[in-house]
Amino acid sequence: MTLPTTDTVVTYPDGATTSTGTVLHVEPLADERSAVLLDTTACHPVDTAWPDQPADRGTLTTDQGPQLILDAVTGGIHDGVLHLGAALPVRTGADGWTFVVAHVIDGPPPAVGDHVQVDVDRGYRAALSAAHTACHLAALALDAALSAAWSKAAPTDALGNPAFDALAIQRSRIHPLRSTDTYRIGRSLRRKGFTTSALDDPAAVAERVNAQLARWVAVGGPVRIERADDALSARRTWVCELPTGLTDIPCGGTHVRDVAELSDVTTSLTTREVDGGLELSMETRTTAT
Ligand SMILES: [Zn+2]
Repeated sequence: MTLPTTDTVVTYPDGATTSTGTVLHVEPLADERSAVLLDTTACHPVDTAWPDQPADRGTLTTDQGPQLILDAVTGGIHDGVLHLGAALPVRTGADGWTFVVAHVIDGPPPAVGDHVQVDVDRGYRAALSAAHTACHLAALALDAALSAAWSKAAPTDALGNPAFDALAIQRSRIHPLRSTDTYRIGRSLRRKGFTTSALDDPAAVAERVNAQLARWVAVGGPVRIERADDALSARRTWVCELPTGLTDIPCGGTHVRDVAELSDVTTSLTTREVDGGLELSMETRTTAT
């Protein structure tokens, strides 16, 4: 069986929730499941190395009818071997690899060459998109709220504040209408000039974050994903026009089209002592209009 030699074309970065495509490969999995590779898809797969936004839900429809997409994972092809999901040993975009969206289905799979339609669950996608935009805004607001905590010049974010989020982030998880970000404040961050005592009162920091978020949501601002091309592994950037500047956060996920679509964004912050430092958790919630 031949495997694709070019990346899957992905349309979800522009907000697409349906697509038609051709089956390029079907990989048999355990328990009568299969991973279906298409030339084009609107289905967002979870990324293996940075699994912040979960896979879309939806259906794959052939002449035989619709089948549930049980999961959508990132696959990488190298030396004629397809590595799926957790078995993918490289980051999306690694040189010499082809990256594909693998739609996992149950039961008789379509045949190579079949035309199929992908329909993504729009409500679930919309709730993830709202949470993902809110998550990025909260990260920028957190950078701003902690800007006075640095004793020396640090790399800055797009709005000119020391890039606490980029320097300290360990893990980010998007859920429908909420996200959880985990930061680590250890030796390397302290050496860069971060003063840990700035987080002695996390509720006070959260208050400043929430005040900034409320201002941004009230004003609104267009959001888009910029990308060099439509291949799965193309570098994509989250661009949001805020009153204080234009953002440029690398991002593989999906978003609302305008900050004003978020009727409310609030975060809560908690800290705990961990080996060698402090861990900060930021829980962000939003309601979408
Ligand atoms: Zn993102």
